[in-house]
Amino acid sequence: MGLKIPCPHCGPRVYTEFTFGGELHELESIDPEDDFRRVYLPDNAAGPQVERWFHAYGCRRWLTLRRDTVTNRIDGLV
Ligand SMILES: [Zn+2]
Repeated sequence: MGLKIPCPHCGPRVYTEFTFGGELHELESIDPEDDFRRVYLPDNAAGPQVERWFHAYGCRRWLTLRRDTVTNRIDGLV
């Protein structure tokens, strides 16, 4: 079955209903080069990270969750 994402509006749904929105990083400065790195150069690190997902085939809302990229375990919504 694969990864299930707990949508706060629709309940647990299979990940294929979602579009991955990437890693979420705080805006640390207003420098355009820092912003470019934040948006277009993901860390792609092994381990827990905060991510954005869009429920494209459901409620069509964005959600933020914490997922371990090694185990695919979701530690909850942020
Ligand atoms: Zn949903």
